[in-house]
Amino acid sequence: RERAREILETVEDRDETRLGVEAMELLDAYGIETPTGDIVDDPADALEVAERIDGDVVMKIVSPDILHKSDIGGVKVGVANEDVYDAYEDLVTRAKNYQPDANILGVQVQEMVNLDDGVETIVGMNRDPQFGPLMMFGLGGIFVEILEDTTFRVAPVSETEAEDMTKEIDAAPMLRGARGNDPVDIGGITETIQRLSQLVTDFPAILELDINPLVALPDGVKAVDVRLTVD
Ligand code: ADP
Ligand code: MG
Repeated sequence: RERAREILETVEDRDETRLGVEAMELLDAYGIETPTGDIVDDPADALEVAERIDGDVVMKIVSPDILHKSDIGGVKVGVANEDVYDAYEDLVTRAKNYQPDANILGVQVQEMVNLDDGVETIVGMNRDPQFGPLMMFGLGGIFVEILEDTTFRVAPVSETEAEDMTKEIDAAPMLRGARGNDPVDIGGITETIQRLSQLVTDFPAILELDINPLVALPDGVKAVDVRLTVD
């Protein structure tokens, strides 16, 4: 909690109210697992991080002005080490083309998460003027807007409530192993909902927050992307 407070204070000092993956440490501070990786501000450092990670990596533009990164081509999946330099330059070029005065903090180099074995889910929070912090769970990735397969509870949520949320969505059978797939780690999802619920309860300054996607795998969950608004 102390670490989370420090991270939020750093953020407030920057005078930004909207934050992206630069705030991933917040999740980390609350025990929510994130992929291995780092944010760097030059190509040489990007390569160093990529070399530390075994195999191909994902690279993303990091800018509080660009919160829908793939919309501008700001996410590159499956980047080999020899392509890291080019990918870095390309991400920055795209960001500048999109918004010449964008505040570019750098590029995130991240471990690849195997989406074939997993289900992209979303865990989020919105502060409702009437009910307070509303936790949301649903199918994530590109499907979230199209299908609107989501369910809500007021934070803080109990373990039972979090479990119920994973059962209520239409896509629940996908989590429990449909079409010959292995079931994903439901316990990991419910724990993540509860940990996030604790985070937003502890910090009323967080007005909204989305982990999208939280990739649910057979042996765990990984928060691959985050964005939030603070007041
Ligand atoms: P944004 O939502 O801002 O476009 P994301 O970080 O969510 O950016 O990335 C977009 C999509 O790229 C994700 O929904 C996911 O399908 C894929 N992706 C992102 N990071 C990873 C990763 N580490 N491993 C595998 N796929 C990823
Ligand atoms: Mg996303």
